[in-house]
Amino acid sequence: MKKPIVIGNLKMNLTAELGREYIKGFLPFMEHVSESEIVLAPSYTVLPLLAPEIRGSQLQLAAQNMHWEDAGAYTGEISPVLIKEAGCQWVILGHSERRQYFGETYTHVRRKLESAFRHKIVPVVCLGETLAVRRAGRTFQIVEDQIDEVLKGLKPKQAAGTVLAYEPIWAIGTGKTASPWQANEVHHFIRNKIETLFGKPTAAEIRILYGGSVNPENCEALIQESEIDGFLVGGASQKEETFQKIISCVEENWKMKKSKKLRQRLK
Ligand code: PEP
Repeated sequence: MKKPIVIGNLKMNLTAELGREYIKGFLPFMEHVSESEIVLAPSYTVLPLLAPEIRGSQLQLAAQNMHWEDAGAYTGEISPVLIKEAGCQWVILGHSERRQYFGETYTHVRRKLESAFRHKIVPVVCLGETLAVRRAGRTFQIVEDQIDEVLKGLKPKQAAGTVLAYEPIWAIGTGKTASPWQANEVHHFIRNKIETLFGKPTAAEIRILYGGSVNPENCEALIQESEIDGFLVGGASQKEETFQKIISCVEENWKMKKSKKLRQRLK
């Protein structure tokens, strides 16, 4: 059975000193993690400082973005080669803050995705609608367009190795979480779309995370939903204790999901 993923997107918040403290408290906790893949995404400058500290643990590092080219005259950008050198195995692509503040489009995201495949970096592609789109009843249509732009034409194996994060923009950093039902409905839609594009095994294999004001209070109801394979956590990952509570919640509930699936198979 696939493993759930919990990613902490620390955004532009963690200094080197705080990063080291964070990790010190985090590594002993990681020894008890058995079900999930745990990934931290600090700022670029903090990545190479944390990489030696986490070596030998199950904790993995992600960059919050990258350019699609390996090198060149792209002032202020960072390449896949450089993030790998800094210790990253993962990269977040198309986060709504990149789309909103830096003009990133899904055409850019597609180029970055292909580059991530070339460099064997696990891509986490963010999808999701604005509040206006939701109110207009166009959520499915927008999410479908985003999937078409980013994933169409990939090989099924590449699609299966891509992690999707459904992050309704109105829920990011706002304290307004999608209800478990709302989130699961979109996840279900995304999985059906993946099945249409790439077939059933890919749809079963691909991991679809939820992101948007996840916290220790709301995570249990969300992870119990059948289609949710983990979380992309922003604000609540800034404190180790709250992030750890979310991870523990995923761990416990995943064990239950696994035994439920096993019981169903044995019936
Ligand atoms: C995010 O930045 O991806 C995110 C989900 O943020 P928050 O958890 O703060 O809403």
